[in-house]
Amino acid sequence: MNCPNCNQPLPSETSAFCPGCGARIGAAPVQPQVQVVQSAPVQTVPSHLALGIISTLCCCLPLGIVSIVYAAQVSGLVAGGNIAAAQEASRKAKFWGILSVVLGAVSTVIAVLIQGIAAFAAANLD
Ligand SMILES: [Zn+2]
Repeated sequence: MNCPNCNQPLPSETSAFCPGCGARIGAAPVQPQVQVVQSAPVQTVPSHLALGIISTLCCCLPLGIVSIVYAAQVSGLVAGGNIAAAQEASRKAKFWGILSVVLGAVSTVIAVLIQGIAAFAAANLD
């Protein structure tokens, strides 16, 4: 391929400018450096952090801690653009948070029953 301006042979087919006359070669136009700002839609992934904290405070179960750990990951993953992972962490935070609350409620009921049985037994031993 030769330069269309001065007809000098070009060093390569993809030369953007002729080394002889400096003319721009039409076959390889210089791409304008346009910053394409990707306006990604704002993804809101619920972190269920409140659920994790409440379940931990109210139920005192390690499962609530697990929920908080996952909830804490959500915002970071969203900021990093990893929406799928954020949604997965959100789902786990919700799962462990609910499980913590449910088990906390169950254990509370069991504790009350045990105390009731103990009180009943103590009353009957008199
Ligand atoms: Zn030229």
